[in-house]
Amino acid sequence: MKTIGMIGGMSWESSAEYYRLINRGVRARLGGLHSAQSLMYSVDFAEIEALQHAGDWASAADRMIDAARRLQAGGADFLVICTNTMHKLADPVEAAVPIPLLHIADATGVRVRDAGLTRVGLLATRFTMEESFYSGRLGDRFGLEVVVPDADGRAVVHDVIYSELCAGIVNERSRTRYCEIGRTLIERGAQGLILGCTEIGLLVDQSHFEVPVFDTTRIHAEAAVEAALATG
Ligand code: GLU
Repeated sequence: MKTIGMIGGMSWESSAEYYRLINRGVRARLGGLHSAQSLMYSVDFAEIEALQHAGDWASAADRMIDAARRLQAGGADFLVICTNTMHKLADPVEAAVPIPLLHIADATGVRVRDAGLTRVGLLATRFTMEESFYSGRLGDRFGLEVVVPDADGRAVVHDVIYSELCAGIVNERSRTRYCEIGRTLIERGAQGLILGCTEIGLLVDQSHFEVPVFDTTRIHAEAAVEAALATG
């Protein structure tokens, strides 16, 4: 089995899900008392969030590269960045270490494409919804057209992530608002919805929508299990 190196803590609420899902996934595949060989370097999210909102992505990249190097030095065979947003820095992280990075948008894009969808809604942080690093990759590599909420909707989705979900707060009113915003994307032609932030699955899931839902935390964790157990 390969050793999974997780860059976590963004936030730890979702990293805990990754840890649980990855270990459950290995047990489901291998049975008995099998669990994943893994390392996690978990950052102080307050520091990362401050850099993100100050637009200091160079310092944020330094932090991610430092984490990647520590994981590689500790014996990780490949890297998993346990957040969609920080994949904005996937290229410099990948370039800084000799081990591969399992990109969350690639794992998700494969699933959406294999489900036969071409137009998909995206709920995520403003960084992920508004910049090209995520939807551009889904378009270029998987031929997907990505629909995002309007400015008001994006603000709601973003604020709930940072002020509630990353702080461990799961609020019924926010769940209702997410459902409404998801529905507007479906009305605008989204054939499925990507939960493109690793905490969103704590708030809504497949049961809240009539179209297929792609929870990036689950998909990424499942891809990590596949990669860890792949031979060669
Ligand atoms: N976990 C979130 C994501 O998947 C947001 C936290 C962060 O900014 O990394 O994008």
